[in-house]
Amino acid sequence: MDLLIRNGIVYDPMNNIYGEVMDIGVRDGKIVDPSEIDPLNAKVIDASGKLVAPGGVDIHSHIAGPKVSTGRLIRPEDHYKTNIPCRLPYRRSQTGLSLPNVYRIGYGYAEMGYTFVVEPASPPLKTRHTHEELNSIPIIDKLAFILVDSNWIALDYMEKGDIDRLACYLGWLLYATKSYALKIVDPGSDLGWLYGKLSLGLDDQLPVYNLTPREIIIGIGAAAEKLCLPHQIHIHCNKLGYPGNYRITVDTMALVDKYALRDKPSIHITHIQFTGYKGDSWSSLESGSEDIVKELNRNPRATLDLGQVILGYTATTMTADAPFEYILYHLTRWKWSFADVEAECASGIVPYRYRRRNYVNTIQWAIGLEVMLLARDPWRTVISTDHPNAGPFTAYPKIIAWLMSRRAREEFMEKVNRRALSKCVLPSIDRELTLEEVMIITRAAPAKILGLDSSKGHLGVGADADIAIYDIDPRRVDPSRDYSLIEKAFRHTVYTIKSGEIVVKDGEIAKTVYGRTYYVKPVLPEDLVRDVQRDLEVKFREYYSVALQNFIVGEDELKKSHPVHVKTAF
Ligand SMILES: [Zn+2]
Repeated sequence: MDLLIRNGIVYDPMNNIYGEVMDIGVRDGKIVDPSEIDPLNAKVIDASGKLVAPGGVDIHSHIAGPKVSTGRLIRPEDHYKTNIPCRLPYRRSQTGLSLPNVYRIGYGYAEMGYTFVVEPASPPLKTRHTHEELNSIPIIDKLAFILVDSNWIALDYMEKGDIDRLACYLGWLLYATKSYALKIVDPGSDLGWLYGKLSLGLDDQLPVYNLTPREIIIGIGAAAEKLCLPHQIHIHCNKLGYPGNYRITVDTMALVDKYALRDKPSIHITHIQFTGYKGDSWSSLESGSEDIVKELNRNPRATLDLGQVILGYTATTMTADAPFEYILYHLTRWKWSFADVEAECASGIVPYRYRRRNYVNTIQWAIGLEVMLLARDPWRTVISTDHPNAGPFTAYPKIIAWLMSRRAREEFMEKVNRRALSKCVLPSIDRELTLEEVMIITRAAPAKILGLDSSKGHLGVGADADIAIYDIDPRRVDPSRDYSLIEKAFRHTVYTIKSGEIVVKDGEIAKTVYGRTYYVKPVLPEDLVRDVQRDLEVKFREYYSVALQNFIVGEDELKKSHPVHVKTAF
């Protein structure tokens, strides 16, 4: 049935619409001109006095794959008291806080008006499992990034300086695993870890290969450029979690100038908070936010997301940065799980509690907010908690309230570590983000950075009809003062519409539908494919635990697949 959303207060930054009262028409899952819709033959939603926005887009949230399922196993205490019973036929049963089950993930996002989520770290060989879980998550559209920085075949080509074959191999790998972009985690460190090394610096020598992390970033960046990937490299910087690491983060951002040929965002630094530390020890830790923002403001091809810490939250940290989790386990001495996949990527899982009065945790909390409040261009900064690492994704409404209200921050600062605050610029920042800016950092900017802006992150004619309607009248509410209303409004939509279907009504799940899984299908040159295929046959026969033909994830293994055809530049 057609939909007509009437008299909503529309915020659609990509189309330069900020608070206009207008109608939105929906037909066959797409936005159409509202004049085409006959109100007598359509479902009409009266949105007067309500905020109408495109569905939210989360660029970095660990929602599926082997780490997530192992995390659930080692944290039974996370879900045994959190059951939300099913209410068939509308919704299935839900459980889990830090590690929600598949239903809680899909419903939790939809209830907040989010309709697109990225799983940012899948080991290639286990991406079949990542898809099995993505298939089970209701409502949202999704996609996966694959881990490639310690991949032996990629390193072989890189060491030879063969960027063409490297790009061809990575293009094949993305297609074979039905993934969307290349993820680089603590570049080269999982290879180093096999040889007993901890995290590497940008210019440390890798074992076995005559390469450094700096060369890995430039090599994979050049390959991504050749493949013309819609989202270029997504980096978790070296020395994550180490005091003093902000310098490496700044240097990594600047590396984009070494490979990017086009004037568009081409390097994304993820969960910047974890790699934004000044100081040379935990006791002298300070925020590196000002230096990071200085580089971000200088460098228009760099983008980032926050990894905002939520104090009082017991995280289940999980990352492909296995050496860092080894260190974190020895700091916490609680639980630890470790895995290695095909000796080409690894991961660790360690539960960790962020405490309000803790010096380090307070600095971490401040860094994320500082970066967002100091950055000049909201189109290159995205909200995230690196779920479930720094906070749960369900904390987004709270983060929005902090960003929009100095008073909300001040009230919270009463409860945190005072010595830490004295080392931060946050208490002196007056800026309060506007609703326009919040709509950019939660939907328009991430859609653009992912290269999905033709159909996602906006409400123009032809866009996917993914729409959030919030119970807030921006003309009547002063976010600076009424920050609790802001938090409340963004926690539960009045309506969430996914591909034209009403999936949430009055904050409750109204229908379980399934979204699509996006992946890239690059057009690769035939002669190079033949060469790489020959190499792969040898490598798989000699080294891999599966046969080449079994490695490839079939299109039919995705519940609803959405290939993105990519014209390459070989
Ligand atoms: Zn992450």
